[in-house]
Amino acid sequence: MTREGGFSTGEYRGLNLGMGSGDDPLRIHANMERLARAFSLTRGVATVRQVHGNQVVVLDERRDSGEEVPEADAIVTAMPGLAVGILTADCVPLLVHDPARGLVAAIHAGWRGLLAGVIETTLAAMAGIFGSRNADLLVAMGPHIGPCCYEVRKDLLQVFEARRDWRGDLFREERDSLYLDLGRAVTETLLGLGIRAGQINGPGPCTSCHEARFFSYRRDGTTGRQLSFIVMN
Ligand SMILES: [Zn+2]
Repeated sequence: MTREGGFSTGEYRGLNLGMGSGDDPLRIHANMERLARAFSLTRGVATVRQVHGNQVVVLDERRDSGEEVPEADAIVTAMPGLAVGILTADCVPLLVHDPARGLVAAIHAGWRGLLAGVIETTLAAMAGIFGSRNADLLVAMGPHIGPCCYEVRKDLLQVFEARRDWRGDLFREERDSLYLDLGRAVTETLLGLGIRAGQINGPGPCTSCHEARFFSYRRDGTTGRQLSFIVMN
């Protein structure tokens, strides 16, 4: 979803779906209802309290409703009609579909989660619980901050290099500043897991470059969150 439409105003103007972003909860609820109606999501959109970690929540019949929202950064479900979503304002939202086993996942992948292995733990959960094979998966990246705008602290280069043997050039130096290509880091991670380039749709458009369409924390500080969700019918 882009930020266009919706009831939120001011810094949160548009379709802010980020509960806890500081926006009026009533407006966020109204925005969510509008979205649910537009997409006929009768069971709503399941989200998690995202903490830049690597925990995965698997939603089945028993956890469909009424429970406290758990802390995690990925949601997997095989339930038709239950949308799973990730809220972002620069991080990479990843949506995964396994058409062979009939399940979907939504993953929150910022650089911390990426290094913590959130993609690996999610795919491992899909494989371990449902028998998914990485070769069957279709993966889409939602909007996220691009290498054009994602200036990061200098030592992140060493942090990344220490953690994995990245094949591509993830960083760009320009006028004493360092920029990270988060979309490429996600792509590299997926390729490293045996997912082929043809299974990956991404990177997404830059949140920071497109103010009318997307919320961007880096650009605006106080702002809303856009929702990327996936559902099986
Ligand atoms: Zn940009």
